[in-house]
Amino acid sequence: MLRLRSNTSLVNLLDYNQPQLAEYFVGLGEKPFRAKQMMRWMHHFGVNDFAQMTDIAKSLREKLQIEAEISPPTVQLEQVSDDGTRKWLIDVNNNGGADTANSIETVFIPEDDRGTLCISSQVGCALACTFCSTGRQGFNRNLSVSEIIGQLWLANQSLRKSDGYDMLPASERIISNVVMMGMGEPLTNYDNVVTAMQIMLDDSAYGLSRRRVTLSTSGIVPAMDRLKEDCPVALAVSLHAPNDALRDEIVPINKKYPIKELMAACERYLVKAPRDFVTFEYVMLDGVNDTVEHAHQLLDVVKNVPCKFNLIPFNPFPNSGYETSKPSHIRVFRDILMQAGYVVTVRKTRGEDIDAACGQLAGKVLDKTKRSMKIPIKAVA
Ligand code: SAH
Ligand code: SF4
Repeated sequence: MLRLRSNTSLVNLLDYNQPQLAEYFVGLGEKPFRAKQMMRWMHHFGVNDFAQMTDIAKSLREKLQIEAEISPPTVQLEQVSDDGTRKWLIDVNNNGGADTANSIETVFIPEDDRGTLCISSQVGCALACTFCSTGRQGFNRNLSVSEIIGQLWLANQSLRKSDGYDMLPASERIISNVVMMGMGEPLTNYDNVVTAMQIMLDDSAYGLSRRRVTLSTSGIVPAMDRLKEDCPVALAVSLHAPNDALRDEIVPINKKYPIKELMAACERYLVKAPRDFVTFEYVMLDGVNDTVEHAHQLLDVVKNVPCKFNLIPFNPFPNSGYETSKPSHIRVFRDILMQAGYVVTVRKTRGEDIDAACGQLAGKVLDKTKRSMKIPIKAVA
């Protein structure tokens, strides 16, 4: 799909949630309720041509043609896995032309009872978790609201036109769940991520319930406290290690927000959360964090936090230096947690043949961090 590059002198209406859009219309001398109509056209019906918005006065449509646009980012490549998982490589260079060669990835995972879209929040990530392909690339920039919500917009458009989905009535949702688990740490792009999630929840836009939008964080404690007030959605926390010594090493942000503080933040979050548990994600790294002793330590660490566990077999990428835990070790680890009464899922690897599995998302990142050690990442484009 080829689209013209965004003209940056125009206001991109995909950058606004409904209250911000109402303010914009008031600024144009229009009634604030226009915002609701516009949200429906843009997000519910996926229309980005003002001329098609028939219930909006022609004079206003003409005004909008001149000064605004509805401009999602551009799809560079769409890949479909044997298991139905889809991955879009999305160009995010249309931010004034300062950057070259930046792209992000968005993944759709169909299951029997739901369709989950995994959305990116940044180009790269500054937090440098050692087992994460995105983290190895360093950080380039935050995504704008239109680039974040644009991933949902594009995926919806693309799926609606795809075989198997094209016959579905418009009222039927293809994407029922969103997880902020793609490239980047969503809580270090706080304002843009919260605005984009407000659009996901808005009944005039995508109307997803808070329980069906999950934010995954490596544990930015002050931002978790803000999120519970501003936009409490389901929470997943990337724990990955049951003690500070190991977590300091593999999730370096732990040095700033150690496990005890992180657990206290989870307890506070649950007071306002739409679900009564936190999901702890735990990547299974062979010989690193997957022993019987680690499982027992983990039980002790989480004892005050109502939670579920999601064990993620490590998804390898070139030169990672890690291996996936042996299936027998994953089973033993899982059984220890289950015997203690916890719900544990072992994440099925989806879309491996198109490098769409967790932590394999690479895109292309023009690294703005000054890394002393650069590790080559397999190109996906
Ligand atoms: N930055 C956020 C969200 C994006 S990562 C976070 O860290 O939570 C989404 C999940 O994939 C996280 O739990 C992350 O730790 C995990 N992950 C990263 N690299 C992985 C890999 N190579 N294999 C399996 N899971 C990985
Ligand atoms: Fe960033 Fe999450 Fe990867 Fe860590 S796991 S480097 S926080 S994207």
